Amino acid sequence: MPTPIEQRYIEQHPRSAELHARARNHFPNGVTHDARRMQPFPLYYTHAAGPAKYDVDGHRILDYFPGHGALILGHCHPAIVQAVTEQMARGTHFSGSTELEIQWAEWVKELIPSAEKVRFHSSGTEADMMAIRMARAYTGRSKVIKFKEHFHGWSDYLVAGSEGIGGIPQETLSTMIVLPPNDISIVEKTIRESGDVAAIILEPTGAHMGAEPILPSFLHELREVTRRYGVVLIFDEVVTGFRTSRGGAQAYYNVIPDVTTLAKILGGGLPGGAVCGKADIINMIEPRPGDDEFNRYRRIAHNGTFNANPLSAAAGVKCLELVATTPVVETANARAARLKQGLNDLLARLEIPGCCSGVASLLFLRLGVEHECDREICVMTPEQERLVNDQRRNHQLTLSLLNHGVQAGIRFILTAAHSEDDIDYTVSAYEKALTEVREQGLL
Ligand code: PMP
Repeated sequence: MPTPIEQRYIEQHPRSAELHARARNHFPNGVTHDARRMQPFPLYYTHAAGPAKYDVDGHRILDYFPGHGALILGHCHPAIVQAVTEQMARGTHFSGSTELEIQWAEWVKELIPSAEKVRFHSSGTEADMMAIRMARAYTGRSKVIKFKEHFHGWSDYLVAGSEGIGGIPQETLSTMIVLPPNDISIVEKTIRESGDVAAIILEPTGAHMGAEPILPSFLHELREVTRRYGVVLIFDEVVTGFRTSRGGAQAYYNVIPDVTTLAKILGGGLPGGAVCGKADIINMIEPRPGDDEFNRYRRIAHNGTFNANPLSAAAGVKCLELVATTPVVETANARAARLKQGLNDLLARLEIPGCCSGVASLLFLRLGVEHECDREICVMTPEQERLVNDQRRNHQLTLSLLNHGVQAGIRFILTAAHSEDDIDYTVSAYEKALTEVREQGLL
């Protein structure tokens, strides 16, 4: 029996239901990304503009998952559309070098404090794979420490510790060490006892885009310990780069890693990734004349048909230029602050325990737990996490919000295209959705 919220969702979205029935013949679960699995079916979209996208049944949906975090300018920003359209007409692939890729790297270096040298890829997964390989090649050590629940794409090494590790040899997984975050003594003990740790990689605001926050003090401690033991510190700034601040989480917290990985905003809405950092480490790609041993066994060979492709470079250059020279980050942050305040006021008014918290333009709604926090970095106990992650309640909330024209649920990624009116609309949609979820006895 569908719930009242599900029933309404089904009634409002007949064309999406039809398309999903067709898609199920082609794709596992009928979708092309694990995060798009959705019961009873996901929505299908036709076009987008600014803060919103439009589904096949004609609804306008305010988007708080814009391009999985790539679209800090919102959808179809005119300057990006123009840059990409013009480049399309000039050529999409020269199987050769362009001035655009130089400009792209110059913006990365201008903005990201740790970037001395840069290598472009097509995704964050690739950039993270390359980063740990560089660290291994550079240090001559084999182990990599990551933290529980931190996401670094879907490569064989970096999914260690998470679900869905089918097909990965145990030999591969055994080179990864998965530790709990926020406890520097465990990290230091592990490095000392192993003697073979090449790198530590983490999401610098915490797992799942900051949903399980890292304490800023832990970042400083990691920097100190990794420096002392000669371990390469890698910040995965695929989400936080150009968002937590113009210079990412590293500039925001003033902790400069050895290597940084970037994607999402980097590509201005087109596919793009990069690994950047200390020149000595990134230069593990450069052959050394006359050093056969290095070139054969230590150098990192790196090809990739679409590395720094002109379309992504054109979009990326324009996007980073706007981030650097206009108040993109500040506007997204101001909208986030308004949303945070609006939702916290709403929770208080409806007497629903929980909070909306987060740093810069990434916010998280934590429902069902009475607690104190500073509305920035909300660290929960495992038991509180369990209550907050009540899948059934959160799923009903997500569906109800879609019924009211908002794609969000319990996570919000803001853009500079969200207006104050959009935020106020969102808060009133939450009032309706939370009330409906409560009527179903889930709050
Ligand atoms: N790192 C982080 C922190 C991410 O959130 C993601 C994707 N959401 C990735 C890496 C992988 O990036 P991509 O999807 O571009 O491969």
